[in-house]
Amino acid sequence: MSKQSRRRRRIKNPVAALPANEVLPYTTSDCPETMKITVGDRVHVVKMRSKRFNCFRRNCKCVNCGCEGTVMGLDMNREGYVHWNLYAEVDGVLRLMTKDHIVPKSKGGADTQSNFQTMCERCNKTKSNLSFTPAELAEMVGFQDSIASLRGKMGALVSKVKLREEEHEHA
Ligand SMILES: [Zn+2]
Repeated sequence: MSKQSRRRRRIKNPVAALPANEVLPYTTSDCPETMKITVGDRVHVVKMRSKRFNCFRRNCKCVNCGCEGTVMGLDMNREGYVHWNLYAEVDGVLRLMTKDHIVPKSKGGADTQSNFQTMCERCNKTKSNLSFTPAELAEMVGFQDSIASLRGKMGALVSKVKLREEEHEHA
């Protein structure tokens, strides 16, 4: 598996995937805390209330790159517990949406809604715990895209040379 494809996150063990707008309305505090989803012969009880969902309900789009969380994937961990994750679909690949701390927790940022913003996993990882301005973060993500693109071109060139060598050997 290439680094590129390892970096792309997919729904690993989805037991269901629903449009985000069908799930997020159930995540309010005045709704029951659980939602039952039947998949096959199993009923999964899903906890709906979390700070993450409150943040997503306010805004489903990454504040940096603007990709929009539209898919709620019901993911299952190894122990068999299920939980929802919000994903954006970017060029046919699912990208995890995350709750970012505007002021990083490591720098004393509060664990409250006023300090949360929606960010895709790619932008959040780039931001790390640094205090980029929006313009600087956009620039950083642009650099990473350029690096990924160059890696792809390097890989393609190496493949071309290997193929030529193989053809030469068999000639
Ligand atoms: Zn983003």
